[in-house]
Order: sequence, then C-alpha cells, then structure tokens
Amino acid sequence: MAAGVAEFRAKHGRAPGLHVILAGDDPASAVYVRNKEVAADKVGMVGQVHRLPASVSEEELLARVRDLNAAPEVDGILVQFPVPAQVSQGRVLTTIAPEKDVDGLHAINVGKLWSGLPGLVPCTPRGVMRLLEESGIELAGKRAIVIGRSNLVGKPVAALLLAKNCTVTLAHSRTEELPARCREADIVIAAVGKAKLVGPDWIRPGATVIDVGMNRDEAGRLCGDVDFAAVEPIAGAITPVPGGVGPMTIAMLLDNTLQAARARVASGAGES
Ligand code: NAP
Repeated sequence: MAAGVAEFRAKHGRAPGLHVILAGDDPASAVYVRNKEVAADKVGMVGQVHRLPASVSEEELLARVRDLNAAPEVDGILVQFPVPAQVSQGRVLTTIAPEKDVDGLHAINVGKLWSGLPGLVPCTPRGVMRLLEESGIELAGKRAIVIGRSNLVGKPVAALLLAKNCTVTLAHSRTEELPARCREADIVIAAVGKAKLVGPDWIRPGATVIDVGMNRDEAGRLCGDVDFAAVEPIAGAITPVPGGVGPMTIAMLLDNTLQAARARVASGAGES
C-alpha cells in the first residue's frame, strides 16, 4: 500500500487524500475515525478529519460534502455513521460524489457491484473477500451462507461471493431453521451483531468461518458473532475477533482511496 501511495505521489505531485466527516461526539465513532486518520498517515496519504458539532444541520453537513466533492485534492470522502438524528443518512449517501465514495455505499456504486461493473466496493466486504482469497479458499461452486443482510456488510458480501461463483444463501432474522441452513454451507460469513450466536452445532466439519461481528460479551470483552473457542476445533479455517476482519476494513478503505485517486487522475481530475 505504502509503495502504491509513494508511486502515486511521485507521478502526480501529491498524495491521495482521504477526508472523513465526523459529526457529533459519539466516543466509539471518534476512535474509529482516529484509527482511519492514523492509518492514512502511516501509508503516506493525506488523512483529514472534518469535525462538526452534534447540533449540525443537515444542510450544513451536506454543504461540507459538496465542498469536498468539488475539491480537486480530495479523492475519498467518508461520513462516519451514525450521523446526528436531524441528518438523513440516505441524503448524505446520495450527496457524496460516486467517484469519491470510498465506503462504496452510494446507489451508483451498489448498482455497479450487482451489475458486475468496476466501482468502489464497501470496505468490510472487500476485506472478507481478501481474507478468503489470501487463504486460498476455493470459492467456485461452493455453498456459502451470509448471515445478516445489511447494505453495509451482508448484501455486498453476498454479491461478491456470487461474483466468485459461490451458491449463496443470504440469511437474516426471519430465516427459518438457520442452524440447519448453516450446517449445509462450505463457507459461513456471520455479520449479525449478536455475541456468540453461531455455535459448534451450526458448522459442518471443515467449513470456513468468517466472523464480521463486533460485540461485547458478558465480561465486556470484544467478541464476534461466532463462539470461537467452540467452533475453532470443527472449522477448517476461522477468523478471530478481534484481529480478523476488523483490521482488513481499514486496509481496504486505504486501498479504495488509492483506487479512487488513480481513477480520478486517469479521467483528468485531481492532478496537482
Ligand atoms: P445490522 O445493520 O444491524 O444488520 C444485522 C443483520 O443481522 C440484519 O440483517 C438482521 O436481520 C440480522 N440478524 C439479527 N439478528 C439475527 C438473528 N438472530 N439471526 C439471523 N440474523 C439476524 O448490522 P451490520 O452493520 O451489518 O453489522 C453486523 C455486525 O458486524 C455488527 O456486530 C457490527 O459491529 C459488525 N461490523 C464489523 C465491521 C468490521 O470492520 N469488523 C464493520 C461493519 C460491521 P434483519 O434484516 O431481518 O433485521
């Protein structure tokens, strides 16, 4: 990543720029944003945070997004969610210029993903796919189940697995006989938000298990959606929480920013 950034800087006379808007004072959001800023800095990108008060109006926040859309040195824009209640998340997403939408959540990028066209892909789903690819897990023809159907994680993961020729089941809170459906799968992706929901009786021996969940257990420790200690002896491969998908999300955010920067200069925008 740092090499790609250095090459971009040498060619174009500036570093790729990632701009994050943080509205309000949610402590967890502040930590996530700080981590993104530090990671951008580490690989030589410009990482800038725009802090707005919790009382910010929707129009003020959208005006900041439009300013960043128009700024040539800005390659990636990310608005940290949740936004304050008076601001519509949907309007924020549709205001970000699709070519700078490094979270990949604008309807244009969602449409490109499901149509098989190149575009910006959400970071956590990209991280899931990178983990599978780097681990040499065979995907074509395999049965995959994704538990959770959010726009942020579940649906894009399903689209990406489908694009790799998996046979995909997209499960959710209304899915009947979920443990049995999971037991049929070669690949289980848990993106629910319920501590240790997936137990050993849900997993077929040798299956690959990717745990996206980030929860707190009874003792307040960070844990995933999978009961790691109980499932690990059965699974063929499994990711831990913390330390599995989480770090991949930030890595893919930086990768998306570099991709956006390259695409913008190739189209004649964003040259210094
Ligand atoms: P979300 O928007 O709350 O979606 C949760 C999904 O899980 C929904 O589709 C819901 O079904 C489904 N669900 C809830 N209870 C269920 C149950 N008992 N059985 C089956 N499905 C159930 O959450 P999200 O944003 O996708 O995030 C999911 C988890 O991933 C959270 O723990 C979040 O913190 C974590 N996360 C981690 C990262 C990372 O970088 N590691 C990034 C993003 C999210 P319905 O649609 O029917 O309600």
